Amino acid sequence: MRFRCARVIPLCLVSGGESAKTPAVECAPALVPNPMPSKEAAELPAAASVDIAIIGAGPVGLFAVFECGMLGLATAVIDALDLAGGQCAALYPEKPIYDIPGYPVIDAAGLVAKLEEQAEPFKPRYRLGERVESLTRAGADWVLATASGDAIRARAVFIAAGAGAFGPNRPPLPHLAEYEGKSVFYLVRRREDWRGKRVVIAGGGDSAVDWALSLAEIANVAVVHRRDKFRAAPESVARLKTLASAGKIDLVVPYQLAALVGSGSGTLTAVTVEDLDGRRRDLPADVLLPQFGLAATLGPIAEWGLALERHQIAVDAASCETNQPGIYAIGDVAAYPGKLKLILTGFAEAARAAHSAFHLCRPGEALHWEYSTTKGVPGR
Ligand code: FAD
Repeated sequence: MRFRCARVIPLCLVSGGESAKTPAVECAPALVPNPMPSKEAAELPAAASVDIAIIGAGPVGLFAVFECGMLGLATAVIDALDLAGGQCAALYPEKPIYDIPGYPVIDAAGLVAKLEEQAEPFKPRYRLGERVESLTRAGADWVLATASGDAIRARAVFIAAGAGAFGPNRPPLPHLAEYEGKSVFYLVRRREDWRGKRVVIAGGGDSAVDWALSLAEIANVAVVHRRDKFRAAPESVARLKTLASAGKIDLVVPYQLAALVGSGSGTLTAVTVEDLDGRRRDLPADVLLPQFGLAATLGPIAEWGLALERHQIAVDAASCETNQPGIYAIGDVAAYPGKLKLILTGFAEAARAAHSAFHLCRPGEALHWEYSTTKGVPGR
């Protein structure tokens, strides 16, 4: 079962042209003053021109919709993934988070649903399943072009790209693609789907160990790792070893993945593993869950002339503005002295960026500071 996606409102295209690199920005409608968006306005056909384009629909990008909305700024949210929620939705939807203010505990999918609900009154235009490839200056605006050639024009851009457009590190196995999405998965969308199954987990880090502990409650789990030492939290490793000693998890070490055994239709029957001397054995399996981490790359964002600090974008901590005027970075992707890569930090950065970008979007207009308790939210 797929995780619930945010409502997707297709953006009108500026160009729809052949090249994502050269959008025909002349066609873009001019920016129009946008008062606090009403329900009616948000239901109009989506325009290609918004105040703020947000790259990344992770928790921080979603909260930026709310912060911008409270200042009367219209937003479009673009994400390479076909679901909203970033790491929370893609990597750990069912894990509990304990450090979101006001929620003693909330699972990651629940947090995403709450953020979508909080953003909803401001009618963001979502464009999911599209990676932003280029960012070009067009007069006072910026134009984003996606991989399929769509273009979105905005006065300011918030890059909330987390670790970048991420993807799993795949094991180099023959015929892997035939099994992916059918019996080889890189993340667990819904743990319950795997009840009673034979699950082979490969990897030795936190996520391999955490999933082994969690799935052992409902499935037959084998963990394959090339060393007998695990790079996970010591207490989790201790629990793993206790479960292995009790025969509740099959620890297959030191072994690595060698081949997939199954039907041509992507149904797995076994996973072949190999030790350091090349000795092979087959582990009966319905599902393989390789947990070799994410390929975290900024991808095209690294080519946009932004000052970088290692794999993050350097910003002014007071405003979250980058070295390019009108381009802001918030959330995990933003770097400044003392930065904490936490969701709550990203929320505050979204507020700072929205207040700074207001002056670009509404030049000459005074920004009257008001608490949400005073201002209220449309429709609430
Ligand atoms: P992300 O959630 O990474 O979202 C970024 C989005 O941008 C992605 O969806 C990506 O597809 C998209 N994107 C990137 N590049 C492009 C592009 N060019 N075009 C279009 N889209 C693009 N944090 C906590 O505060 N508390 C916790 O308890 C906690 N637990 C965690 C547990 C795990 C297992 C993991 C992996 C992380 C945890 N975190 C926790 C960290 C937290 O998830 C991140 O800090 C948070 O997700 C960052 O949010 P973000 O919106 O900045 O980026």
